[in-house]
Amino acid sequence: MDISKIRNFSIIAHIDHGKSTLADRLLEYTGALTAREMQSQFLDKMDLERERGITIKAQTVRLNYTADDGNTYILNLIDTPGHVDFTYEVSRSLAACEGGLLVVDASQGVEAQTLANVYLALDNDLEVFPVLNKIDLPAAEPERVKHEIEEIIGIDAHDAVMASAKEGIGTREILEQIVRKIPAPQGDAAAPLKALLFDSWYDQYQGVIILVRLFEGTLKKGDKIQLMSTNKAYEALKVGVFAPVMVEVPELTAGEVGFVIAGIKDVADAKVGDTVTLLHRQCTEMLGGFKEVKPMVFSGLYPIDTAQYEQLRDALAKLKLNDSSFSFEPETSVALGFGFRCGFLGLLHMEIIQERLEREFGLDLITTAPTVVYRVHRMSGEVYSIQSANQMPELQSTEYLEEPFILAHIHVPNDFVGGVLALCEDKRGVQREIKYLTPTRVMIIYELPLNEIVLDFYDRLKSITKGYASLDYEHLEYRRSDLVRMNVLINGEVVDALSLILHRDKAYFRGRDLVSKMKELISRQMFEVAIQAAIGSKIIARETVKAMRKDVLAKCYGGDITRKRKLLEKQKEGKKRMKNVGNVELPQEAFLAILKVD
Ligand code: GDP
Ligand code: MG
Repeated sequence: MDISKIRNFSIIAHIDHGKSTLADRLLEYTGALTAREMQSQFLDKMDLERERGITIKAQTVRLNYTADDGNTYILNLIDTPGHVDFTYEVSRSLAACEGGLLVVDASQGVEAQTLANVYLALDNDLEVFPVLNKIDLPAAEPERVKHEIEEIIGIDAHDAVMASAKEGIGTREILEQIVRKIPAPQGDAAAPLKALLFDSWYDQYQGVIILVRLFEGTLKKGDKIQLMSTNKAYEALKVGVFAPVMVEVPELTAGEVGFVIAGIKDVADAKVGDTVTLLHRQCTEMLGGFKEVKPMVFSGLYPIDTAQYEQLRDALAKLKLNDSSFSFEPETSVALGFGFRCGFLGLLHMEIIQERLEREFGLDLITTAPTVVYRVHRMSGEVYSIQSANQMPELQSTEYLEEPFILAHIHVPNDFVGGVLALCEDKRGVQREIKYLTPTRVMIIYELPLNEIVLDFYDRLKSITKGYASLDYEHLEYRRSDLVRMNVLINGEVVDALSLILHRDKAYFRGRDLVSKMKELISRQMFEVAIQAAIGSKIIARETVKAMRKDVLAKCYGGDITRKRKLLEKQKEGKKRMKNVGNVELPQEAFLAILKVD
């Protein structure tokens, strides 16, 4: 393999700026896929990803491109997940590259996510060059956006390609710039193997597949390899590339990107960021930047039909096969019965898993409001983590909780600065900085408690800014906070699945709001239902759902039978997401009402 003819690159873009469409275009142009073979958006493999237009698992493809200089190059396109929950994975994919295409929607301009990923790329010493996409749109303002790229990001944009991934404009020029601007990788194929594991997943036929970028050395089929974070050894049973389908190759050498199948049983053993070396000829040290990822947000998942418990457990185990950043363990709730407490990297990750459980596994679930991980400091000096309000102990006066804080970068047009500041203050934020990137674009930097973000921060941010703001965050530290456990009582009984941990200053307001929201959600029953919010034994809010006066069916009395049946069916449909708590029927929405306060 002639290393000087290899180019390893990623596409960096804010969500919806056209990364997947452009990737498809590059595949099509280089003949990796014929137009007929090409299902639209090859790179977004899962249905869910395609529907939501987001990339969850990175995909990697090798393209052959004959450039204007007459040489044929191997271009390895390494796709990255596009959401803030997956920043670590993005950073490892970028570490496998020498260059990045910065795709910016010419009608939108630079967004916070673009910036976050550009900084990640620059941190990894990538050569970054801009592509202005969607120039076919009447609202495209390429000159303004070029200026913005130079001003805000500080990279040269004078010869940025004007592209329309949708219409196939600018594709060849992008490929030429990849060859000209991105440096070839370097590395010694004769040195001991040193390869970055930048993605892994479970394939039901082949077991765990890992993607690697070789920095030094050579990897052949049959080699004994070792993963350096665990010191576990395996045999490389298959070595190959995605072109774009899996093709075995005799060997991979320094500078190349490819896959290895090595009989790894569990994706948890194939950690993103790990270093792969040879068992009997090891490199001296691991590649930098390795991190174990931990779930940050937890929620309870319960089958509506208790008979689906085993099915839910099997489905969770299957999903876990492919996703080691997700965790689950059995949990019992007085209100909801047997279920699982599940851990996720963030809210999007949580939604994706919930949706897959329902769609792919046909489960009907009740999900409880997400919570973050708190730290409890006991008088004995003991410190431990809790992931649900039900684990919160009675605290003595010298005991306290700590909560995780994040550092949020919010990017907004200047018209919305006031609204965003008010929101951040309301969410117990601590202001760090307000930066005017240009006279009209502002970066607001706040320290915020993660627990306020998992409530309704993002939705409110979007509505305050008419959708113009973008948010991106990183974890900061744990801070001591005056946190209390709020319980909700239905007819005097605590509904454990509705308890939550929140800041004392917010408790009264949220308690009042929550019970009034629940009142709307609980339909009338044969008897009166009292809904209360309490901190300890102190009731802070109360609402009552009056008893039902007459049978709903009475409305149909004397009416025709089909109408009656329809009504019954409608009720049944509505019941699908109901759960009996004591003798009161609660709809799923009641368990999430906490999220939609204000
Ligand atoms: P990603 O989130 O960055 O992967 O973005 P996608 O490739 O999924 O594109 C987001 C949306 O923009 C889709 O509806 C695309 O059809 C559309 N899109 C992508 N490129 C272009 C373009 O050049 N012109 C126009 N008009 N639309 C585009
Ligand atoms: Mg995409």
